[in-house]
Amino acid sequence: MIPFALNELCHLFFPHYCHGCGVGLYDRKLPLCASCLNTLPRTQFAAIPNNPIERIFIGRLNIIAGFSEFYFSKSGLIQALIHQLKYHHNSSIGIFLGNLTGYSLLHSKRFNQFDALIPLPLHTDKMYKRGYNQAEIICTGIAEKTGIPVIKNNVQRIRYTSTQTKKTRIERWENVKDSFVVKNPASLAYKKLILVDDVLTTGATLEACGSVLLKIPGVSLGILTLAYANK
Ligand SMILES: [Zn+2]
Repeated sequence: MIPFALNELCHLFFPHYCHGCGVGLYDRKLPLCASCLNTLPRTQFAAIPNNPIERIFIGRLNIIAGFSEFYFSKSGLIQALIHQLKYHHNSSIGIFLGNLTGYSLLHSKRFNQFDALIPLPLHTDKMYKRGYNQAEIICTGIAEKTGIPVIKNNVQRIRYTSTQTKKTRIERWENVKDSFVVKNPASLAYKKLILVDDVLTTGATLEACGSVLLKIPGVSLGILTLAYANK
């Protein structure tokens, strides 16, 4: 614990501000002030079966639970925070949002039985360019609160897919359907796995990766994202 005076001194030389409203913050680990934290658009449906995330995958992917912690809206605070995580190397934001998601999972009691978190992999080229996989950082934050271990590098993305944003749902599926392989499927057999990503839009990429995991004998699957774009 850093003494208050030292915190003040740090703030003087290395000021740290709330990403929501710009007010000065002493605790460098927090990206938001308490009042901006309270305005984040939480979905609060972790404990509810047949919630909107689970309904997205009906008839597409046989999942046993699904959840997103936040609603995503263009130009909203969650969009700004995820942008910081994805494009500005701000891993502390990913850990912080992962921690909040982890709390919700613990309290929902629907995710306690899972054996491992699987971050949705990036293609090696993209990973090289960005330097990190944001889904792995989110998983680290979730694992800190839930104790569910993270399995990295077993699932691989073998196709470099172009941007999905301007494609229809069918085009998105064509774009990603053969993109994933599991290097060592035997090590995942008979496990309950949660596949984790940053934002859920149509779910095409999660569906493509999840369907590969469900081919492994005995695997049950959950889907989890920080945010859900419902418009
Ligand atoms: Zn604020």
